[in-house]
Amino acid sequence: MKFSYKILLCSITILAAAFGFGGFFFVNYVFESSMEREISQAMNDSSILQFALETAALNVPSKYDVLHDSTIGQIGANLESSQNSSLLRISDEGLQTLYASEGFVEGTELLSNMEEQTRIYRIIDSNERYYIQTGIATTAMDRSLYLETMRDVTDVFSERDQGFSVYRRLTFIMLICGSVAMYFMSHWLTKPIRLLAKAAGRMTEGDYAYRAEQISRDEMGQLTGDFNRMAEALEQTIHQLEDEVRAREDFIAAFSHELKTPLTAIIGYADVLRSRKLDEEKHFLSANYIYTEGKRLETMSLRLLDIIVTKRNELDAQRIDVAQLFTFIRDMYDGKDEVGLKFQYEQGFVWAELNLIKTVLLNLVDNAYKASEPGGTIELYGIKQEDGYCFRVKDYGTGIPKEECKKIMEAFYMVDKSRARSKNGAGLGLALCSEILKLHGSELIVESEVGEGSCFYFLLGCEEVKNHEAED
Ligand code: ADP
Repeated sequence: MKFSYKILLCSITILAAAFGFGGFFFVNYVFESSMEREISQAMNDSSILQFALETAALNVPSKYDVLHDSTIGQIGANLESSQNSSLLRISDEGLQTLYASEGFVEGTELLSNMEEQTRIYRIIDSNERYYIQTGIATTAMDRSLYLETMRDVTDVFSERDQGFSVYRRLTFIMLICGSVAMYFMSHWLTKPIRLLAKAAGRMTEGDYAYRAEQISRDEMGQLTGDFNRMAEALEQTIHQLEDEVRAREDFIAAFSHELKTPLTAIIGYADVLRSRKLDEEKHFLSANYIYTEGKRLETMSLRLLDIIVTKRNELDAQRIDVAQLFTFIRDMYDGKDEVGLKFQYEQGFVWAELNLIKTVLLNLVDNAYKASEPGGTIELYGIKQEDGYCFRVKDYGTGIPKEECKKIMEAFYMVDKSRARSKNGAGLGLALCSEILKLHGSELIVESEVGEGSCFYFLLGCEEVKNHEAED
């Protein structure tokens, strides 16, 4: 069953119960008030008639020293004709009727329940009419008598039935009007739920950009807002996952391609070597190709392994003296004089994993070497900044076109493939650097101009130490 129908059903049930019980108690309250009034009136009538009976008995001529049954009957008839609100019956000590109005109910149950000098009453129905029957014991001259009255209250009962009937009709009309009003109200109240359900449906079908319309500021509006925010986060995560899947597919495609090139060369040269006898020089060249391509494959697999390990690893940061890093680079390139290395750095300490940062710097300097012409210069800077310690590796080599600057961080991307391969490159060095710096909460930034050279830099968290310049 629809939620709006449930609301409708509940409202109608509550409305029907409220009107039903309300009407019942109201009509009943009016009825009971009227009955109390009628009872009090019946009791008054009984008192007046009792008084009139006693007075009439006293006025009987004194020559009669006893009150005869016929005299009492006469008094009864007189009393009845003097008023017309009640029927009356007068009985003697033995409950024998001495006088009874026409239509007075038969039987003496009321009197048999009566205690002395108390006026009692009961409500009876006779011939489809309702009466309040009262009874009192009285004394007239020397006679003990019982006086009973019957007051007709059929109208009060009819009014009650009429009240119930009016209320029934009113309840019915109110229910119909209420149901129509509640139908529209429940429809309006559940509109945000329908909009949310629609949005959820659209998103299930793959339309992640779809958002639920927010039509109110109440709790439902807040829920819609929260749902939309959740959808936003979900959409971002899905796009991120899609990007990751695409990146992985690109990676696999590039990996297979990069694997194919050296393998083709190795297989080709190996085939030549095994199929015919070559002169010494060609034999050496073929074996050399196999060796260099094999070496390239080895480098590539080691780099890939490094990337995977870096991605999975957690950082084991230590406090490192930057001088130690620059000295390491200087020692590594000591003796390679075709390109000049210049160092300029401020003394300081950084928080990093030593071997990983050495790998980054080595890769950057190595790339700068590959890009530089013999006789060129490579500059290494260490600058303390407000937000950390900045390492810069600058060369005056080939440079990188602007549109390629972002792509070079992707695995297997090489700007000039043949040049890179000839220098034993596989397009994995910068991808590894990026991963390492990501692990350190940093990133690798490149500024480059074609023909003018490139500058790669990154920041690491550092400690305040006395500034000091060192130049090599
Ligand atoms: P590899 O050096 O093994 O080819 P890298 O990931 O280190 O792979 O670099 C990717 C590509 O970026 C290189 O092939 C090269 O084309 C370009 N590149 C990197 N550093 C420089 C640089 N300093 N100057 C010019 N090009 C560079």
